[in-house]
Amino acid sequence: MTNAVILETPARFPRVLLPANLPSNPTDLEAAQASGWFSALRTAITELKPEGVIAALSASGMRGRGFPGVPLGDKWESCARAEADRKYVVVNAFQSDPAVLTDRILLERNPYAVFEGAAIAAFTVGAQEIIFAVRAEATDAIRTLEAAFAIARQAGYLGDNVMGTGLELQASVRPLEGSYMLGEETVLLKGLEGRRGQPDQQPPYTTTQGLFGKPTLIHGPQTFAAVPTIVNGGIAEYLETSPKAFAGTVLVQISGAVVQPGIAEVPLGVTLREVLDTAGGVPASRRLKAVLVGGPSGGLIPAIGLDVTFDQGSLQKAGAQIGSGSIVVVDQTACVVDLAATLTRFSADQACGKTIPCRIGLRRMAEIGQRFCDGLPRGDDVALLNDLAVDIVESALCDHERRATLALTSLARYFRDELDAHIVRNTCPAGVCHPIAKAGARTGAAS
Ligand code: SF4
Repeated sequence: MTNAVILETPARFPRVLLPANLPSNPTDLEAAQASGWFSALRTAITELKPEGVIAALSASGMRGRGFPGVPLGDKWESCARAEADRKYVVVNAFQSDPAVLTDRILLERNPYAVFEGAAIAAFTVGAQEIIFAVRAEATDAIRTLEAAFAIARQAGYLGDNVMGTGLELQASVRPLEGSYMLGEETVLLKGLEGRRGQPDQQPPYTTTQGLFGKPTLIHGPQTFAAVPTIVNGGIAEYLETSPKAFAGTVLVQISGAVVQPGIAEVPLGVTLREVLDTAGGVPASRRLKAVLVGGPSGGLIPAIGLDVTFDQGSLQKAGAQIGSGSIVVVDQTACVVDLAATLTRFSADQACGKTIPCRIGLRRMAEIGQRFCDGLPRGDDVALLNDLAVDIVESALCDHERRATLALTSLARYFRDELDAHIVRNTCPAGVCHPIAKAGARTGAAS
């Protein structure tokens, strides 16, 4: 089992994805059933029916965790309405950021919740097959899923006659290897078809034209794992988890300058400060400078911005996104200019090249960031950086590169002093950028 510290959270934080009553053996079906797993699937099939499940999801306020956060009820209804001889449910557990373990921890420790949510989805939209797309190196998660499927099949939750209802449902796990872009849903579907892929313009949406051209419902494992709670516990209980526009909980992985790095389940609607508190906050010997929220293509939030509400809408306005769920706390020893330049270079390397402003523009942004670090800024670099970011965001086909502009643009917005130290005074306050002082080589004053 993957080693990771699951952080204690305040009692007022509900635990929907990794509840306290998880069976010690994650594939122990009897223990899981005794604790309530699979009762939601029965309720969905025998009482709610597809319309009732969609109504419950719509009322819950839950949205998909990626950009643009489509309401679940709308997405499921679109797939349910699509007419086809075959439909698929895909659990996107590829998790592009290999350093983030949240999805594989969920699959290893609570596989039946993800499976049950996906089975409810299959019943609701009329799919016959569930495919779990998992990073190939997540071997423990893959083994756990395969064991869980075998046990679920014997218990009648999979096969030609699910729970005696006549429903046909199969499930499989597909290990995948590939670049960062494989986590994007249209690329992932091509990967499952055995094709090399770049993101597709939507519409047509995957709910009507997805895997092998058939209607496909695709979400991450955290989204599916929350569905049984909505169906089972009732809408009111779920809304209590976060009485804001974005309902539900997410798993975050907190690292960097904190007392106890680890994984925590937090409700959307708390503040970023409360999220960091689950990791014990910043040690007294260190000073918080910034928080990188959302992984390599995430945004930098300054120390004074910790009271931002932790949900997709608020973070987006603040220049970040939940993204991979990675939260890295940066202290005074790091240079945010160097960090932003490095992150942008990584994102430029990952861009698939389909959209020209992204392919060329991100590379130019990375070069500008490097000029800041080298003490060689050009006069119009800051303005050019912002123009490029606007062009990339307006033309981006996918979420990854929309977010890839966030790190560098956050410098002018939140870290102007540190940026000016590099481009005006030719110094790096953190002493990270070398060689920063090449005054004779400078070509003009930065704006
Ligand atoms: S925005 Fe970038 S990564 Fe996304 S499809 Fe276009 S070129 Fe590829």
